[in-house]
Amino acid sequence: VLVDVAACAIEAVDASRVLADEHGIELRTDVDAGCFVWGEADLVTTAIGNLVGNAISYSESGTRVSVTVHAAEDLVEVAVTDQGVGIDAEEHERIFERFYRVDAARSRATGGTGLGLAIVKHVAENHGGQVSVWSEPGHGSTFTIRMPLAGQQSSGGPASSGTSTESLSAAPAPS
Ligand code: ATP
Ligand code: MG
Repeated sequence: VLVDVAACAIEAVDASRVLADEHGIELRTDVDAGCFVWGEADLVTTAIGNLVGNAISYSESGTRVSVTVHAAEDLVEVAVTDQGVGIDAEEHERIFERFYRVDAARSRATGGTGLGLAIVKHVAENHGGQVSVWSEPGHGSTFTIRMPLAGQQSSGGPASSGTSTESLSAAPAPS
């Protein structure tokens, strides 16, 4: 089905407001209307929510997390930017692996499992896109999901609701 990415972002941000308040984080959004992708809205909302949750969890009180949705050529870019602890460059690939957490001691305090970014990666790929990270350790991170806009594709789209859910649950183990 057609998914309104701005609506997903707003839903994900709204669901994160309590967590943000608890952590003393200011949430900002800047979203373009009219960015549609083929896929599953719940999955896109979950993926953006995972990024926002991380941005809040790995940042100090008094900092800002911003979520933007913009169209760029035939893609929609969803960017989640924080002013948090950042991630060393040598960790950038591994953080998308299931159960991988950068600093066991530090991460334990946030009580996660290390699945959040693996899910983000699956959702992005199941929507024909990808996720990337930019980070400056000690200053912050930006995670960007890029997905092809609906209507720009010749076929009906890479991810009908059926295939995206199926491939997510049937994901092979990393080799
Ligand atoms: P879960 O999301 O399953 O509750 P998690 O947050 O530890 O647990 P991921 O979301 O997959 O798992 O993130 C993996 C690791 O990447 C985190 O443990 C953390 O070390 C690092 N990380 C993720 N996002 C950020 C961020 N915005 N800033 C700093 N480090 C991050
Ligand atoms: Mg997480």
